[in-house]
Parts: sequence; C-alpha cells; structure tokens
Amino acid sequence: DQTRPVEPALNETNRSAERKKTDPERIHEGQVIVITGAASGIGRASAQLMAEKGAKVVLVDFQQEAGKETLKMIQDNGGEGIFIQADVSMSEDVQNYLNQTIKTYGKIDVLFNNAGVLQIFSRIEDIEEDHFEKIIDVNLKGVFLGMKYALKIMSEQGYGNIINTASTTGIRAEHSLAAYTASKHGVIGLTKAGALEYVKRGIRVNAICPGGVATAITAGVPQQIQETGYTPEEFPNMRIGRFADSEELAAVVSFLASGSSSYMTGSVVLADGGLTL
Ligand code: NAD
Repeated sequence: DQTRPVEPALNETNRSAERKKTDPERIHEGQVIVITGAASGIGRASAQLMAEKGAKVVLVDFQQEAGKETLKMIQDNGGEGIFIQADVSMSEDVQNYLNQTIKTYGKIDVLFNNAGVLQIFSRIEDIEEDHFEKIIDVNLKGVFLGMKYALKIMSEQGYGNIINTASTTGIRAEHSLAAYTASKHGVIGLTKAGALEYVKRGIRVNAICPGGVATAITAGVPQQIQETGYTPEEFPNMRIGRFADSEELAAVVSFLASGSSSYMTGSVVLADGGLTL
C-alpha cells in the first residue's frame, strides 16, 4: 500500500511507505487527489498532469461549466475523475465534497487547497470591508475548512497529504494587495501549524508560492496596476522575464503530491521566477 501510515524511529531511514519505487510515468497510480479551483489555471493544469500520471482526481470549483470542461479534457485523455461544484468558503460545501470523495473512491490521499481570488488593487485605506472579508473567506477560510475536515478524515486513515496554494505574497508584501497579502500569509501560517500538529499522524502539509502565473486571475493585472499608479520600482520583478505557465506550477504540485517528496512537511516551496530574490 503506497500510503500506509508511517512513524519511523529517528534512527531508521528509508522506511517511508510513500517512497516505494514506481513507474515515473505513473507516479500517482492508486492515489485519490482532490483539487479545488480545478476549473481553471493552476488547478486545472495540476489535475490534468496528476490524472495523466495515474491519479483519480476529484475536481472542485464553483464554476460548473468550466469544471466539467476540465473533467472532459481529463477523460478524453484516458484519465479518471469526478467534478463537484462547491464554494470553498462554505462549510457545508467543503464537507460535501470531501464526503462525496469518500463515497466515490473510499479514501483521500491528497487535498490540493488551491482555489483563490485576487483582490481589487488598492491601498489599505481604500479597501472596502466586505471586499476584505471576501478575500479572507475564500483564500484563508477556504483553506482552513479544507484542512479542518480533511485532516479529520486523514487522521482516521492514518495517512494523508495536503498542499496549499499560497503565493509570494505569503512571504512578502506586494503593493496595493494588502488583503490578498494578509490572506496568503495566513495560508502559510496554517500550513506550518498543520504540518506541526499532524506529522505524527503520517500526514504531510506543504505550501507552494507562485509569483506571477498567466491565468484568469492575472489577466486584468497590468491594467489595474496602471490605474493604481504603481511606479516601475513597485512592480513585481519576475527576474526570469516572463509569467509562469500553469504547467510549471503543476509540476511542483505533482512532486509534492508524490512519494518523491516524502521527507517534506511544513515546506514553503517557491516557484516564482526569481520574484522574491
Ligand atoms: P484562476 O482564476 O485561473 O483559478 C482559480 C480557480 O478558483 C477558478 O476556477 C475559480 O472559479 C476558483 N474559485 C475561486 N473562488 C472559489 C470559491 N469560493 N469556491 C470554489 N472555487 C473558487 O487562478 P489561478 O492563478 O490558477 O489561481 C489558483 C491559486 O493560485 C489561487 O489561490 C491564487 O491566489 C494562487 N496564485 C496565483 C498566482 C498567479 O499569478 N496566477 C500567483 C500566486 C498565487
């Protein structure tokens, strides 16, 4: 069993059940992986990659049509999965998508807490209170709820793996993005707290930090930056010279979801084209 619980003694190595040899083309064979925000961008690309490499994927998003489109793309490519419509900031929806996963596939190996929204660019004094709440609800509470209910299930299983999408704004501030920055700092806090509390139950929790990725979320950014009156020095500098493709983040997610990362927990993994250098 690829995901048997492990609690190796400190002086023993190479004992992780996750680390068994697998066909590199099918590294997710046998895994059930839940992906939120799977209708678009990083979530869609990650779902496609991990399904191609053998995972049964549970696609979660509030966008029904685009979510079903992701599922069709996966099925057309010979992959297996289901789509569940949910708002990640609603407790009932979160419990429902996790319960549906257990009903359909009997277990959850990996939860990729990835759904998120970008705030409207503005200085703190101009952020509407309800807009602040919305950003925190989706980006931070959504991750909290996913962890809260998945960790219960994973504790009972005796194994599990959670990957949270934070951001470079989880590590440092970005101009005119205070609510988003606060929410993503919170995601990193939850990641570390979860890793600490659940390591002895055979559960790993890690975060990824993209910088700029060419997805729906960033489509309006250049115009918003112009309207906000950023100076060129304030503009995030992707030193690599371009935005990432979603596939370049999916590769990192796949690694964290696989047994190849079996010694990583509480890690905050940057894939930012040098933005934070
Ligand atoms: P995206 O807009 O392409 O995808 C986000 C998905 O989340 C969408 O399908 C959307 O429908 C879904 N979603 C939003 N709110 C939801 C809710 N309440 N319930 C369920 N689904 C919801 O954007 P993306 O760039 O792929 O974003 C994925 C994650 O990456 C987000 O957490 C985002 O903050 C993070 N991120 C993105 C960038 C970037 O530059 N694109 C950088 C750093 C972090």
